[in-house]
Amino acid sequence: MSNALHISEKALPDGLDVDRVRADFPILQRSIHGKPLVYLDNAASSQMPQPVIDRLVHYQTHEHANVHRGVHTLSQLATTEYENARHKVMDFLGAADEREIIFVRGATEGINLVMHGYGRAFLKEGDEIILSAMEHHANIVPWQMLRDEKKVVLRIIPMDDTGELLLDEYEKLFNARTKLVAITHVSNALGTINPVREMIATARQHGVPVLLDGAQAAPHIPVNVQDLDCDFYVFSSHKLCGPTGVGILYGKAALLEKMQPYQGGGDMILNVTFERTTYNEIPYKFEAGTPAIAAGIGLGSAIDYITGIGLERIAAHEHALLSYATEAVQNIKGLRIIGTARHKAAVLSFTLDDIHPHDIGTILDHQGIAVRAGHHCAQPVMQRFGVAATARASFAFYNTLEEVDALVAGIHTVQKVFA
Ligand SMILES: *Cc1c(COP(=O)(O)O)cnc(C)c1O
Repeated sequence: MSNALHISEKALPDGLDVDRVRADFPILQRSIHGKPLVYLDNAASSQMPQPVIDRLVHYQTHEHANVHRGVHTLSQLATTEYENARHKVMDFLGAADEREIIFVRGATEGINLVMHGYGRAFLKEGDEIILSAMEHHANIVPWQMLRDEKKVVLRIIPMDDTGELLLDEYEKLFNARTKLVAITHVSNALGTINPVREMIATARQHGVPVLLDGAQAAPHIPVNVQDLDCDFYVFSSHKLCGPTGVGILYGKAALLEKMQPYQGGGDMILNVTFERTTYNEIPYKFEAGTPAIAAGIGLGSAIDYITGIGLERIAAHEHALLSYATEAVQNIKGLRIIGTARHKAAVLSFTLDDIHPHDIGTILDHQGIAVRAGHHCAQPVMQRFGVAATARASFAFYNTLEEVDALVAGIHTVQKVFA
């Protein structure tokens, strides 16, 4: 990285030492097709820093046993570390109580848990759920399954051509049958940061609980669930520099206590006979079976790493990258940015002439640049903008302005190939 010092000064009025941060990520040192890796697919999965990798190795090397079971030392140690991770998540989300933090497989499973435990248990034919036009499939399909099973009605908040939700239309969707609002905090396909605080306040006036899909928010902007006053919040570890296989469902204790378990099995019970079973207290009621222990502990370590840098700083750095990239690509003839909301996280979705996004992705990959090409698990968004797919560059705090320059040069190369 020539000129790295100059670049980082320009990029980082916030004082984040990007060169030092990058040194923590071994994978960023590798090359792809003989070129330095430029990893711009962070909205799909982010990379893992050495302290988190070390934590996983340390756990497997010195601490592993099953949790919540044994009297032996290792089991107690693993349990303590796993529960410490839960505590870290509680602090990270600004939750009031550890019992409100449920370990799940990821954002997807968190939403499915709410669909089963709340939707299936309490919603009746004719009840209504409000979703938005920019949801990830993970926040559409479970509700469609419920619709088909229970004959509930899905109401969709429309958006404008910039990718902002129409709040007037949102307010009109409420009626006496509205039982849940389930919306994304930040759109993975467009980058839009939704005004969730106002949207939750509106739902509150109607006495309707709100689930926020925070998969793209938790890694990029400070989140405080008590401050937002949301009822449910989900996110995935692997988009927050942690391991795959674990994620979090936050739920208000009063709601979780009323809800039905999602899966049955060990750990989620207090007492079992063939006649009847009494369920465990929250959060364990929702955690059947042996969990992803190492991954949970790794998530705790990733949260330490992220909060060590600071989400305010991360947001400022990523915002600088997005502004720089947006300005740079606006000069490229034939490039159309999909998603131009006023408040955006660092997601740059675009189309280029009539070149297929898969071709854009492939040619960029040959230059070492990793972007995602496709519908981003948000096909309704693609339909809304009249495209089949986009190419998407999504930034993390370890990306640099120099990498944005590489992306812009890469896009020019794509155009030359197709000229
Ligand atoms: C990635 C993502 C999900 C799904 O997360 P998984 O880790 O695949 O469960 C849900 N919603 C949004 C907005 C996402 O970006």
